[in-house]
Amino acid sequence: MADKTHIFNLIKKAYETQNLSLDECEEVLKSEEYDDELFTLANLARVKFSKKDVHLKALIEISNYCHNSCFYCGLRRENSCIKRYKLSKNQILSTTQNAINLGYKTVVLQSGESKIYSTDEMCEIISSIHKLGARITLSLGEKSFEEYKAYKNAGANRYLLRIETTDTNLYKKLHPHMSHKNRFLALENLQNLGYETGSGIIVGLPNQSEKMIAKDILFFKEKNFDMIGVGPLIPCENTPLEKFKSGDFKLSLKVMALIRLLMPQINIPATTAMETLRKNGRLKALQSGANVVMPAIAEYEYRKNYFIYPNKATKNEGLKEQICAISSQIYDAGFCVSKQNGDSVYFQNRQIYG
Ligand code: SAH
Repeated sequence: MADKTHIFNLIKKAYETQNLSLDECEEVLKSEEYDDELFTLANLARVKFSKKDVHLKALIEISNYCHNSCFYCGLRRENSCIKRYKLSKNQILSTTQNAINLGYKTVVLQSGESKIYSTDEMCEIISSIHKLGARITLSLGEKSFEEYKAYKNAGANRYLLRIETTDTNLYKKLHPHMSHKNRFLALENLQNLGYETGSGIIVGLPNQSEKMIAKDILFFKEKNFDMIGVGPLIPCENTPLEKFKSGDFKLSLKVMALIRLLMPQINIPATTAMETLRKNGRLKALQSGANVVMPAIAEYEYRKNYFIYPNKATKNEGLKEQICAISSQIYDAGFCVSKQNGDSVYFQNRQIYG
């Protein structure tokens, strides 16, 4: 008979050594016996390096135009049921200023992938935000090395680009006309340019196995990313996956917690998808290894059309009410809102020790 504590020993090993083999990761993901222990140790690992701090980052969804056709995403170009928008430079800057006034240290500019902003236009936006004193994270999809370089020179600090899955066959099925190779290359370019680089996956994609997810996790570790976002799939109307089932909340949480054990110093967001799928999902994520929350702060009239999936956990409330509600959720979870600039401990140490 297998040793009953085998899985617990693996979780402990992950906590103590920050290493597990592919098979071991898969075993932990498949077993359900020690989930609570996994979440508790992930929280301990997070507290060890990031203390009780939660970084709040202001997410501005600047445009929902997209030329891609990702099977799960409501922004896909074939979806004619959403109203497309593009925020002007002035709208972005005034939203940023409001965020700074409320204490946000970072703005995250996210959009569908398109050329709706020229490189020069985007650089102007970035350098104006830089002058306002906020740190800048971009999440604009795949761009050329030259574009990433121009954004960096204009003052961007960080970039988020989820690999979505490292399994090439699965990726191909869900991302017609896109190249998996190019996505890997984009991540490499971002890291080479010195961005604090984030990636991540969706949990619950069709035919995605625990083994594939274990490979994703070890890829993240091997590539030394600074931030990893994990969210369950939420089926979206008017997409090929609209009738598909949602990703499993518990499995998403376990993936996140295991990443925390193997990469204790990185930033991990409590994703909106977790909060959307499960009431208090954000709180549970914060107690299981996450240390970042990214509230969407563009005006509701636009934000509601950033329709990557339905019932997104976003309400029509003022920014002040929103930050108060989220801050009290954070304090209720036993944490505090960070006063630091939002860099991961891992990134800070790399700056000091190389
Ligand atoms: N164009 C940018 C931003 C995409 S939206 C880029 O390519 O990086 C941000 C993330 O939302 C995506 O990377 C994807 O992982 C996630 N997402 C999109 N649709 C989703 C859905 N239906 N369910 C769960 N996550 C989804």
